[in-house]
Amino acid sequence: MKHSISTFRQLYYTCKEQSKQIFEVAIENEVDKGDYSEYNIRLQAKKTLDAMKEAIKEGLSSTELSPSGMSGDDCDRLQKRYSNNRSILGTTAEKIMKYALATSEQNLRMGTIAACPTAGSCGIVPSVLVAYAQDNKIKEDAEINALITAGEVGRIISNKMALAGAVGGCQAECGVASAMAAAALTQMRGGTVKQIINASALALKNVLGLTCDPVCGLVEIPCVKRNPFLAIHAVTASELSMADIMSKIPPDEVVDAMEQTGQLMSPLLKESSKGGLATTKTALALAKNILK
Ligand code: SF4
Repeated sequence: MKHSISTFRQLYYTCKEQSKQIFEVAIENEVDKGDYSEYNIRLQAKKTLDAMKEAIKEGLSSTELSPSGMSGDDCDRLQKRYSNNRSILGTTAEKIMKYALATSEQNLRMGTIAACPTAGSCGIVPSVLVAYAQDNKIKEDAEINALITAGEVGRIISNKMALAGAVGGCQAECGVASAMAAAALTQMRGGTVKQIINASALALKNVLGLTCDPVCGLVEIPCVKRNPFLAIHAVTASELSMADIMSKIPPDEVVDAMEQTGQLMSPLLKESSKGGLATTKTALALAKNILK
């Protein structure tokens, strides 16, 4: 059995010593555990990728509201906007925001999504990965490599803390998803291992303290709109990293800081719906209305 990799530092040096990319090391380590072959791992990643693309497609063509009635038609609004107006960020960014909303709205409709890493953050990795791949003619194999890279980033962060709003606030869900998306995007753009890991660190360190305060305890407000926000956040991280703008705090220390921040965060702001946005006057009125 090979030495298992549990930190970004170990991942970086393993890639460096073996002249390998992150997805290659991730696959090798998984194969080494003995349960799956490389073929099976890539096949599973392809199935996940297909599920992500299907969720985007379904979400783009639906205006069905969630059972609570609080959300479900924002992707349609954005599509209407972009049918006549351009975003100042460019057409790939338009797609990213649309795809992120499409996927997260599918989640609240109880449609099929790929949790990545969680259902509440399910729109971030797919939107960035699929939109960039479409606009840059990235082959499916390279998309799979990017998804496995994102998975490895999520796995390493999860060694330190549970990826759940109830444990670490939304930094542990949408924040980690953004770090994973930044890695996937930087991989597809031909970034180095250092740039990929650094992109994740940059994304993560700029979401520290993000609270989880869902209105009525439902994964809708602020969750749905948070997905396009943190998808674009991932793009910013990749942009900076591709310019070799490095996190002065090493990636593993950023993860440590996230874990500590999660512990320091009040339980009222960790999925209990007893603080923050969930206890605003309007949120309480919405909750009363839904419970009627
Ligand atoms: S606010 Fe809470 S429930 Fe919503 S996506 Fe973030 S962690 Fe998940």
